[in-house]
Amino acid sequence: MAVAERAADLNPAFRTEAFIDGAFVPAASGRTFSAVNPANGKVLAEVAACDAQDVDRAVKAARRAFEDRRWAGLRPLDRKRTLQRFAELIRANREELALTETLNMGKPISDARAIDARAAADCFAYYGECADKVYGEVAPTTLENLALILREAIGVVGAVVPWNFPMIMAAWKVAPALAMGNSVVLKPAEESPLTALRLAELAQEAGIPDGVFNVVPGLGTEAGKALGLHMDVDAIAFTGSTEVGRYFMRYSADSNLKRVYLELGGKTAFVVAHDVSDLDAVAEAVAGGIFFNQGEMCTAASRLLVDNRIRADLVARVAALAPRWMPADPLDPSAPAGAVVSREHQQRILKAIDGGLKEGARLVAGGTAVREDSGGAFVAPTVFDDVAPSSSLAQQEIFGPVLSVIGFDGLDEAVEIANGTVYGLGASVWSADLGAAHKVARRFKAGVVYVNCFDADDITTPFGGVKQSGFGRDKSLHALEKYSDLKTVWTRL
Ligand code: NAP
Ligand code: MG
Repeated sequence: MAVAERAADLNPAFRTEAFIDGAFVPAASGRTFSAVNPANGKVLAEVAACDAQDVDRAVKAARRAFEDRRWAGLRPLDRKRTLQRFAELIRANREELALTETLNMGKPISDARAIDARAAADCFAYYGECADKVYGEVAPTTLENLALILREAIGVVGAVVPWNFPMIMAAWKVAPALAMGNSVVLKPAEESPLTALRLAELAQEAGIPDGVFNVVPGLGTEAGKALGLHMDVDAIAFTGSTEVGRYFMRYSADSNLKRVYLELGGKTAFVVAHDVSDLDAVAEAVAGGIFFNQGEMCTAASRLLVDNRIRADLVARVAALAPRWMPADPLDPSAPAGAVVSREHQQRILKAIDGGLKEGARLVAGGTAVREDSGGAFVAPTVFDDVAPSSSLAQQEIFGPVLSVIGFDGLDEAVEIANGTVYGLGASVWSADLGAAHKVARRFKAGVVYVNCFDADDITTPFGGVKQSGFGRDKSLHALEKYSDLKTVWTRL
């Protein structure tokens, strides 16, 4: 198979050392950790395991680069051109980056090409375009004064990201931070360090100066914690679990009160009213909403809330679609789903399924590991009906291909159940009555709401959550606010 052969050829090309001050370097301790292909359990590469020493080196390099203004002091037009060159290089290397992503975290190659590599490039192009379009303000004071409100880069930004969309999550933080003139230290997830290291190399090729973009692969409890506690990091942009998000708040409080932006977990409610006209289309959206990317989506439609009048009908259609999302070899271009990120994560998902059975939910599809002879970590698309809204199946983020179905009587009850978790990231409502649907949309406690659609996406729209799904928004012009500060300059005229 052509794709598999190319994947084998790629192996020696992985970048495995930390990228600090414009050079690949081993961890100061000399330690490494294994990057594993979750589709077969085989080690792809040994990667530098950075700890506090390496983070300190990277932060010092980032600080030097920021203070001598080698990047922040460029004409914004030149920052724009550099970021656009970076975007072009990502596009030119799309095949290699997509294959690396697939090998390292198990998603289907067709998605890695069409979504991950493309969206990462588009994100750098979008924020590059913003670099020379951010203006300050003049305050409406009396004629005796001139008060300028300047928007300035904040300094050294630490970005800590998860493994489900490694390149995209990194791009959502790094691109707006660089566009505003900051220096960045990126800590990719332990499970998926390889594309981040290659991106650093492409950034250098594009002309981003040494020290401006650093990558420190390593464990969360070492490299991540060291970034969070560092006294000279000005902001942390984090995407990951709610549990680790709490740590970053503590790290900030225990160090220099660095600002913290958190994109955390979710338990999206997909609400279907009794009057929807095309149940097949709804079923397709539900299945795609929970099974895409192996369910490893912070906005995965993990709770289907359906009016009891049409529940049996819709559940039967969703269960019938589940096998279409059966995972296959991620390198097979027709694979609808691939491996989950690791054996440990597979076990966590299976444990949640087991918990659901013990809680009395009714399994109507999947429920097991599959492709065990591959040596990889795969889970069958799984559907539970009769899930109690307060059960752990309905409350806890599973981050796998597991759907919980909950019945309701009337949209008031649906809203109450939808809002009845600690999370507030995504929500969706489907109804033939657009007015009723929009009223529900307003009542959802969620950062992103879909009406009669699911997971529509564009770099121009803000993305993020409320409640324990975090705060701060990625994407859109609003993200630039996180990576800049306001300064007021008074002049007596
Ligand atoms: P995670 O365990 O919270 O890890 C996220 C990042 O934090 C990783 O780089 C991780 O390093 C690091 N980390 C872990 N423990 C740490 C600690 N004690 N101190 C400092 N850093 C630490 O999350 P994940 O399992 O990678 O990703 C899944 C989670 O991300 C889900 O909850 C999902 O909902 C969330 N997510 C949210 C969004 C969003 O936009 N809201 C998008 C995607 C994913 P290691 O790799 O060593 O663990
Ligand atoms: Mg982790």
